[in-house]
Amino acid sequence: MIPTDQHTTQPAADKPVIGIFGGTFDPIHLGHVQCALQVHQQCPLEHIRLMPCHLPPHRATPGVSAQQRADMVQLAIANHPQLQLETLELHQHRPSYTAISLQQLQQQYPKHKLAFIMGMDAFNNFTHWHRWQDILHCADVIVCQRPQYTKISDASLALLASHQITKASQLQQSQSGQILILDNPLHPISATELRQQLVSQRTRPAGLQQSVWNYIQQHQLYKNSD
Ligand code: ATP
Repeated sequence: MIPTDQHTTQPAADKPVIGIFGGTFDPIHLGHVQCALQVHQQCPLEHIRLMPCHLPPHRATPGVSAQQRADMVQLAIANHPQLQLETLELHQHRPSYTAISLQQLQQQYPKHKLAFIMGMDAFNNFTHWHRWQDILHCADVIVCQRPQYTKISDASLALLASHQITKASQLQQSQSGQILILDNPLHPISATELRQQLVSQRTRPAGLQQSVWNYIQQHQLYKNSD
């Protein structure tokens, strides 16, 4: 059994909510963008900040810099003012720990509440994240459905038993500690598959936006398999 978080939800402070969507975005794809737009449509969030994580050199895709991952995010969200780039983790020289980043963002946005957004694959692993309890102390969590990850892990089910909310409007009713599983359309796209396709493919893979594809071609990215 997983340790039960002793957290109790704090009273609503009537603060606007900012969504934080963390990821490697290597590269950003339509699955990411469509999920973020869907979250914004279904949930009372002021805006959503896409936060590319720091990648240590041994985990980074050869030839693709942190700045290039961020440039691609910027291009992908250019037509969606409700989505913004968050560069907090990008140029750090240590692993990105979401709990620490959220605490920093809380200080940066004291007049807002935070909701951290993740896909079901990430949520299934959530109780293995560094200081995951602290994440629930400073934010709500919104989980997007993802194809092939329809089964929720036992540990995450146990967490839902004490933290799940079923209505998006409840995100405004407490300071943190709630988990919402979104009922969103599924997008069968993954960055791993895209990177594999990009090694040899000369036409734009369906899961990539045109602007991101143009950037990848211009900078000759993802030509070596990782
Ligand atoms: P990789 O295949 O390399 O693991 P990825 O496609 O999962 O990459 P990430 O940048 O690691 O992309 O994902 C960032 C966040 O977006 C994670 O929380 C992940 O669960 C979520 N996510 C990514 N793709 C999808 C998708 N197609 N549908 C729903 N959520 C997604």
